[in-house]
Amino acid sequence: MECSETRDPSQKDVSEALRASEARFRNIIERNADGILVVSGDGNTLFANQAAANLLNRPAAELVGSYFGLPIIAGETTEIDLPLPRGPHRVAEMRVVETEWEGKPALLASLRDVSDRKRLEDELRQKISELAQADRRKDEFLAMLAHELRNPLAPILSAVHLMRLKGDDPEIRAQMRDVVEEQVRCMARLVDDLLDVSRITRGKIALRLEPTPIKSIVRRAVETTRSLYQAKGHELRVSLPGESAVIWVDPLRLEQVLVNLLANAAKYTDSGGRIELHANLVGGEVVIRVRDDGIGISPEMLDHVFDLFTQVDDSLARSQGGLGIGLTLARNLVRLHGGVLSASSEGLGRGSEFTIRLPHRRAESEPDAQPSSRQKSQNGSGSRRVLIVDDNVAGAESLRLIVKLWGHDCRVVHGGIEALEVVGVFRPDVVVLDIGLPGMDGYAVARSLRASPLSRSVLLIAMTGYGRDEDKARSREAGFDRHLVKPIDLSELEDLLSRGYHEPGAVDRADDADWP
Ligand code: ADP
Repeated sequence: MECSETRDPSQKDVSEALRASEARFRNIIERNADGILVVSGDGNTLFANQAAANLLNRPAAELVGSYFGLPIIAGETTEIDLPLPRGPHRVAEMRVVETEWEGKPALLASLRDVSDRKRLEDELRQKISELAQADRRKDEFLAMLAHELRNPLAPILSAVHLMRLKGDDPEIRAQMRDVVEEQVRCMARLVDDLLDVSRITRGKIALRLEPTPIKSIVRRAVETTRSLYQAKGHELRVSLPGESAVIWVDPLRLEQVLVNLLANAAKYTDSGGRIELHANLVGGEVVIRVRDDGIGISPEMLDHVFDLFTQVDDSLARSQGGLGIGLTLARNLVRLHGGVLSASSEGLGRGSEFTIRLPHRRAESEPDAQPSSRQKSQNGSGSRRVLIVDDNVAGAESLRLIVKLWGHDCRVVHGGIEALEVVGVFRPDVVVLDIGLPGMDGYAVARSLRASPLSRSVLLIAMTGYGRDEDKARSREAGFDRHLVKPIDLSELEDLLSRGYHEPGAVDRADDADWP
């Protein structure tokens, strides 16, 4: 029998095919995004792919042959902290199954970095808990609101009843009228606050700014809260800057803020307390502080007292019908004025201080005020015809009052078509145009104005809630001279009205850098 040295060709093919197949599988395992490890029964690492080496922050060659060192149990999924030298803490999920390695039982572990998923899960859990909290606060608020609105009903009903029985007694009639009036006012205040909160959250409150002496606002706020102070025997000290301190504010709104702070100081201070109100002009700011020596606020509640419907548990008994919306409103009203309202307290039982900081714009009526730029304007009288186009009726009306106060002739319309009609009659020098108009939007109105010989050279000012570069570019393309973002800076508008006029070509020449 002949014995040949050459192997059976079919056996060679099989072993080559096996080698190729192993290389393929090794390649798949090596390139797998999950870390893959094989660990022997006595805890030695027998195999580690590149992803496992990356996750465990050790070269694969160093891992293989070394003790694995982590608890590893077949059939279990565990989380392990990854030993990464830099960056935020990361976590991997490890799943373990039984396998075989070179004929012996072993464990196959796959590792996956789940840090991002876990972070999202944590964020989601946090959001759910916040939403549940907000939902609970809203439920509590509705229960409290129902209670507060029902409270005045009993005395009103009793008053009606008494008037029916003793309506011919003028003294009783007068007394009962007072009861009804007082209770209705109390309900109206609650409803007004609620409406204000909802308007503010929808951006629907427009300020009516006017030059106002600080003194008169403080005096009215003190007057409104006087009965609260008297009832609890508090001492109230007020210090104000000089007579001439006049600020540009919406006097009713600032008074509302001060009334809230003074009423809170009275409510959350035990009888016979001392409350101080200091107003100062510091640098470019008006600073008003309301300080009490009452129950104080714990550090963790300091910022939350401004949250909607939030009341500190310990102070509920003293809130006297409050709903936890006063400070939310106050902070937002101060913010609308371009200012900040903050709270500080050295802790429970150690009093509180609320500070309002407002930018101080010099009012024309200040005795030493500079002549306004309007008086220096080019057409002698300085007065311009200004057309305001805004579908927000309250916003347009308050702006009209201010523009009139500056000495200009002002007309208001609430729609684009109306604006184009009025231009022929009113012949404005300046058009202040809201972009978000219903129907024909501000861009279309601007293009029509520029196209008409009657209004080609008006000074065209865009008024909008959007201030991104692309919004400014869009305004410029539509033919606007200026782009003001709401709430608009009134001193800038005043300046524009007094100095500004349309320069043909200026719009095309202006580039993003100097175009406001
Ligand atoms: P209300 O007084 O109607 O509850 P606010 O929004 O005005 O609502 O105040 C929210 C919470 O802030 C109050 O319930 C109270 O717990 C706390 N707070 C406000 N002012 C003071 C203060 N001067 N001293 C201590 N706690 C205060």
